[in-house]
Amino acid sequence: MTTMQAAVLTAFGKPLAIRDVPIPTPAAGELVVKLEACGVCHSDRHVQMGDWPQMDLPKILGHEGVGRVVAVGAGERQVKEGDRVGVPALHGGCGTCRECITGWEALCPAGTRHGYNVDGCFAEYVRVRSGWVPAVPENIDAMAAAPLLCAGVTAYGAVRKARLEAGRLAAVFGCGGLGLYGVQLAKLTGATVVAVDVDEAKLAKARAFGADYAVRADADPAAFIKKLGGADACLNFATTLAVWQPMLRSLRANGQVILVAIPRGEVALAPTDLIELGAAVRGSYEAGRQEARDLLALAGTGAIKSEIQESVPLRAVNEALERLERGTVVGRIVVDFGMT
Ligand SMILES: [Zn+2]
Ligand SMILES: [Zn+2]
Repeated sequence: MTTMQAAVLTAFGKPLAIRDVPIPTPAAGELVVKLEACGVCHSDRHVQMGDWPQMDLPKILGHEGVGRVVAVGAGERQVKEGDRVGVPALHGGCGTCRECITGWEALCPAGTRHGYNVDGCFAEYVRVRSGWVPAVPENIDAMAAAPLLCAGVTAYGAVRKARLEAGRLAAVFGCGGLGLYGVQLAKLTGATVVAVDVDEAKLAKARAFGADYAVRADADPAAFIKKLGGADACLNFATTLAVWQPMLRSLRANGQVILVAIPRGEVALAPTDLIELGAAVRGSYEAGRQEARDLLALAGTGAIKSEIQESVPLRAVNEALERLERGTVVGRIVVDFGMT
């Protein structure tokens, strides 16, 4: 067999073409992974529609892959055929810049990404760089593992920046897929966790995933959080600028706002809001390689739950992407390569 089924973006704003393409072969330093599953992420929709800086086409989209190594490049020593790995968005960095050698590969100016400027995981096989794909424990179901590779690692990178510990207070704004991982990961640090969302169902879910408190976003969450002493960290997973003021008003002295979601537009900032509290605002983009390895290993202990998944075959990926756009998806949609 020399060809595989893939979902290929051939023109921005158009459905992905489901077609047969050649199975990739690994060069030195590369691996080929046969996919078990790949999550369908809202980022895929942005890439498809050309919302983000446009890359060369055609490209196979998809960046939440889980599968097994079926071929290794010449001289490979770390990984062998049969190893189970995850394929995140980050395909690789230059390996030599300051960011790359200090664990900030996600910020490498020369970084490349699966499902964007390198072929991704909406295909039966994907070619990856050895050393850039974390091991996936055998005891995690592929459907549950797939969203960890994007939503999970992104939430993990954000929670680590919050420097939480027992006795601290974390407020998680936005309790969709990323936010629910954020709630669980913040809780695992020992911190007290307040979940904030406009949607009662999402708040109920956040409680089920370990949040100590759940507050509606339209019920003055800052006042509620201030009564608890104020937040050491506000983690924003909500794609709206409406959370900006409530987050600032929730902070206690030396608190910080960690920005993850990417709303359009700008926010107003009075310098005194930060100065008088000694507060900080910082962005968090994806996560580094070691963070991805650590998160997957943690998931292998059973400490992290994923939302309910809906399995679809690869040929149904366009419908899944449209449903993400319409916002009618509960939980996560995952392409199951065992379905035809
Ligand atoms: Zn993603
Ligand atoms: Zn680099």
